[in-house]
Amino acid sequence: MKSAPAPAHTAYLLLGSNLGERVVTLHRALVALAECAGKIKTVSAVYETAAWGNEGQPAFLNQAVQLGTDLNPQELLRACQQVENDFGRERLEPWGPRTLDVDILFYDDLVLDSEQLTIPHPRLQERMFALVPLADIATTYVHPRLQRSVADLLADCPDKLPVEQWMGDL
Ligand code: ATP
Ligand code: CA
Ligand code: CA
Repeated sequence: MKSAPAPAHTAYLLLGSNLGERVVTLHRALVALAECAGKIKTVSAVYETAAWGNEGQPAFLNQAVQLGTDLNPQELLRACQQVENDFGRERLEPWGPRTLDVDILFYDDLVLDSEQLTIPHPRLQERMFALVPLADIATTYVHPRLQRSVADLLADCPDKLPVEQWMGDL
């Protein structure tokens, strides 16, 4: 029997949740992404961080994911948004609370600026809550625009919000 060909592209995603059963949502989102976006290759630990940019809302759980995919970047964004919608995501205010957020951090070595999609994610280097989980699974990966590794970006990140590994139960 022939095995399926390896996915053509590698993307790194960041999942975030700060409403409802946060860790259950992250877990189910991985299952949903595996169904509609590609193959989950590696996942980081789950981390908890106070809300960034729009305070006074519940803390977030975040998890980074390495995905093998045959989707192009626009198709991948649509798949991520579909999964967000399936989890009841409402867009009420910028950086507001949400059941599920799925951001594309990297897509191969692509550098892309379009109205709907910027890759690498434009605020990755400012956010410890994204860099800490990403460093679990992509520490040597070189940011194709900044030409610096994830480990370097993490060491120099000005964000001071503590990011703690989440040890809660399922
Ligand atoms: P932030 O992008 O600062 O993390 P957010 O995740 O709260 O904020 P959303 O409301 O989820 O923002 O998304 C706003 C828009 O960002 C989306 O409709 C999408 O078109 C756009 N976008 C641009 N680049 C990306 C990317 N790399 N990943 C996901 N969405 C992106
Ligand atoms: Ca986001
Ligand atoms: Ca988003």
